[in-house]
Amino acid sequence: MYDLLIKNGRIADGSGMPSFIADVGIVDGRVADVGRLSGPAQRTIDAEGRVVAPGFIDNHCHFDAQATWDPLCTFSPQHGVTSVIFGNCSLTLAPVKPDDHDALAMMLSRVEAIPMESLQEGIPWEWTTFGSYLDFLDQRLGVNAGALVGHSAIRRWVMGDESFQRAEATPAELEEMKQLIRDSVRQGALGLSFNRNSGHMDLLGRPIPGIVPPVEELYELATALRDVGAGVVQCGAAYPLEIRDGFATKLGEYSQRPVVYNQIVHHPSEPDRWKRHLDIVERGIAEGKQVYPVINPRPQAQRFTMRNAQVFDRMPTWRDVMLGSVEEKAAAFRDPAMRDKLRAEAVDGKDLPSGALPVTWERIFITRTLKERNSAYKGMSIAAMAEAQGKDVIDGFLDLVLDEDLGTGLQNSQSGADGGVMGRLIASPYTVIGLSDAGAHVVFEAGYGYSTLVLGKWVREEGALSLEEAVRKLSFMQASLFGLHDRGLLRPGFAADVVVFDPDTVGAEEPDEVNDLPGGLMRLRQKATGVDYTIVNGEVLLEEGEHTGAYPGRTLRSRAPVPA
Ligand SMILES: [Zn+2]
Repeated sequence: MYDLLIKNGRIADGSGMPSFIADVGIVDGRVADVGRLSGPAQRTIDAEGRVVAPGFIDNHCHFDAQATWDPLCTFSPQHGVTSVIFGNCSLTLAPVKPDDHDALAMMLSRVEAIPMESLQEGIPWEWTTFGSYLDFLDQRLGVNAGALVGHSAIRRWVMGDESFQRAEATPAELEEMKQLIRDSVRQGALGLSFNRNSGHMDLLGRPIPGIVPPVEELYELATALRDVGAGVVQCGAAYPLEIRDGFATKLGEYSQRPVVYNQIVHHPSEPDRWKRHLDIVERGIAEGKQVYPVINPRPQAQRFTMRNAQVFDRMPTWRDVMLGSVEEKAAAFRDPAMRDKLRAEAVDGKDLPSGALPVTWERIFITRTLKERNSAYKGMSIAAMAEAQGKDVIDGFLDLVLDEDLGTGLQNSQSGADGGVMGRLIASPYTVIGLSDAGAHVVFEAGYGYSTLVLGKWVREEGALSLEEAVRKLSFMQASLFGLHDRGLLRPGFAADVVVFDPDTVGAEEPDEVNDLPGGLMRLRQKATGVDYTIVNGEVLLEEGEHTGAYPGRTLRSRAPVPA
């Protein structure tokens, strides 16, 4: 007797082999059989006309906090995601000393744009070690959840407040950090995460600890994974360093583990760079390395208001102004001398740190105006609006937002990636699809639907890759990289994480707003179309996007090899 029998679906089993019409029988949370099955079943789902695939594994989330109050990690399972991996970009909530709760939350709040009020209200902090954090999560999960241990948390634990300033760690501190990493991976962390984004800071404007030391510290810490023989290395903002110095490749050499790094992109300003980058990746693969860039399939579009924005973080004057209260910001924006400074950075690109660029005002759009007299500007870019008013761009911009008490709705649409290039990058066998950033930037964007976007836009509409290849990249490839050895394929013995979707309608909807964060705060929601069932460990978690009440998820833990 099967617990669940999914009949007549088109099976894309995750391996990339051609799909076929068959049935999937599930017993005790695992796939029992795939084929033409007639056995009796507790429950039968008719999947005729639908695709049946392994559930998607989202490798780049920031649900570290949300998972503690929302065990479904909404809105990811709505898009067929059955496993989420967080702890990315050096930011984790474990290990943590009892006095450091706010310190870690302030990093997560500022870098990943999650309201501090919600973090303070929502996180129960009933753990210290990485293992006790996973044990806490294991009490109630809708999806499966795995986590990396983050460099910033490790450095904070060992060096305290000095982790925000002192670049050189002592040999003893390095050894303690390595021991914490080894312990965390042995307790189940799926790997170690780093970050090299020089704009990342906490709520007090301090650089997060992971970006303070030179890269040599990261190389040294990466050897902790080699010691354990498990885990993957993840690194945010690694690609300029990889192109220049082979940084991610070196992380692979020091760790002797797979490396997944952010990110391969197409820059309109440097139209050939993606090709040079992909050449480097392909050369590494030819040499037998396991170093993979992440490709973000989503259009880059951040929503924000001048009450709260991350768009200006890499420009020092703007950054300092944006850290102030709404009143302080408004006063600064009114001050003509301050406007000159802001203009010098954001228009002329003066006095910017290396790698930072002035703002492309043609690509910042007005999505919502609060006052009737400004409604004609809705949909226009800031550049076009200022020109229409005969104003300099900074004056036009700041006059508008001041008139609306900094509440004007804005959208930063920077990438505008060339569709053909994007299709090639997604289809490359050497890129890892990801960067949903699900659970992060919750008021600015909603990337939960990266998987349904791949299936709707890049498979169905653009034909950039086959259905089978897309499913492979969303499931089996992710499971293989992150050491989830019994997931990502619909084969007997594998965990029964399954998504059933309609290939003709699957897609990601435009985000809307909901006030469901702890404290009643707003975040963006993203719904899916065409996803019929999300099944986790053999139990139906969502049916037509609605929660069934089941909590079948569990933590995903690393498996260190058996010692000789
Ligand atoms: Zn991230």
